Amino acid sequence: MKRPWKDVSVSLRDGMVTWPGDPECHIKRVNRMEDGAVCNLTHLSMSAHTGTHMDAPRHFIADGITMEQMPFEAVIGRCRVFEIECEDQMQITVDDLKKLKLSPRQRVLFKTRNSTRSWAMNEFDKDFISIRADAAQYLVDHEVMTVGVDYLSIGGHGKDVVETHQILLGAGIWVIEGLNLAEIKPGYYELICLPIKLEGADGAPCRVVLR
Ligand SMILES: [Zn+2]
Repeated sequence: MKRPWKDVSVSLRDGMVTWPGDPECHIKRVNRMEDGAVCNLTHLSMSAHTGTHMDAPRHFIADGITMEQMPFEAVIGRCRVFEIECEDQMQITVDDLKKLKLSPRQRVLFKTRNSTRSWAMNEFDKDFISIRADAAQYLVDHEVMTVGVDYLSIGGHGKDVVETHQILLGAGIWVIEGLNLAEIKPGYYELICLPIKLEGADGAPCRVVLR
């Protein structure tokens, strides 16, 4: 018997935490049955990089491909969840990655303290664990297919946010950001991540499940 699917996406909520400076997430019910409307209707306004979402190469590569061109192979299939402790440091380093067995075409998700710490905060966590630029290059050199992280960005705030994105997206690696892996133990899983089909977009919100 297969184990049940686990939802590793965060809920989209009105006013939820976003990357500093990105448009706010507004979710408002504009028709209310309790006010006599025939149906309930919700209006949604947010950045494509809100909550659990994917980055397309177009996010940091001017002529990179866009969300609707994403191959399903990048987001459906076997994946590996690695837990990274990052005791003293704020970023995932090459030394952390050298301890892991990475293989070409692998889908890798990194679980860090972000899953329990950062998502529990009411404001943006500037000290979230991110991927250092040289570690991003290490992932490229090992030809992984997909990289997932458990907070809003692969690169660090005020650190190498631009470089890490340019390195991974420039190599055609598909990026899932904003996962919550608190309930997930390291190991192999089946991954399904389906971003919404936003035409020409540099990113898209997605639902992600593992089992
Ligand atoms: Zn993004």
